[in-house]
Amino acid sequence: SGDFNQKIDYVFKVVLIGDSAVGKSQLLARFARNEFSLESKATIGVEFQTKTLIIDQKTVKAQIWDTAGQERYRAVTSAYYRGAVGAMLVYDMSKRQSFDHMARWLEELRGHADKNIVIMLIGNKCDLGTLRAVPTEDAQEFAERENLYFMETSALEATNVESAFLTVLTEIYRILS
Ligand code: GDP
Ligand code: MG
Repeated sequence: SGDFNQKIDYVFKVVLIGDSAVGKSQLLARFARNEFSLESKATIGVEFQTKTLIIDQKTVKAQIWDTAGQERYRAVTSAYYRGAVGAMLVYDMSKRQSFDHMARWLEELRGHADKNIVIMLIGNKCDLGTLRAVPTEDAQEFAERENLYFMETSALEATNVESAFLTVLTEIYRILS
């Protein structure tokens, strides 16, 4: 994904949101660098990472923003959402509460973001199958009702991570190009 003097056709800002410890930072590490850590520390301040990819023969730079220790309701500032064309709404499928909070994260996102923003609901940690606390159908139903894409992922096992980001980025491209 080298950024060596490359002509960039598009820059897409995508934000990660959801409760603390659901795996947002590890999803980003997996997507941007193919890395994973079981001891990821809470990041301080807002950070983003970029990954450059080709969509439909165009060079797209994805700028993925990660909330950092601001995961309480209404603690994420409007600057975080500004200019975002995509969002990953992440819960931990072994933590029911993190899914129950999706509605208010979505409300906050919709209150700040562009109305055409592409949103993916992500049930992360699907490797923890035996600890599942959120049935797939509950999430699917919520996603359908709210018009969101939906996938279950594992940052640990690299399941559907690339696919989730690519789906969002390709849909953004389709809307904006
Ligand atoms: P964040 O607060 O949402 O950014 O969550 P982190 O990315 O820091 O992850 C919180 C904890 O969950 C860390 O111990 C991670 O290693 C772990 N974690 C993240 N993704 C997964 C996953 O897909 N599966 C499992 N089993 N653990 C994960
Ligand atoms: Mg984090």
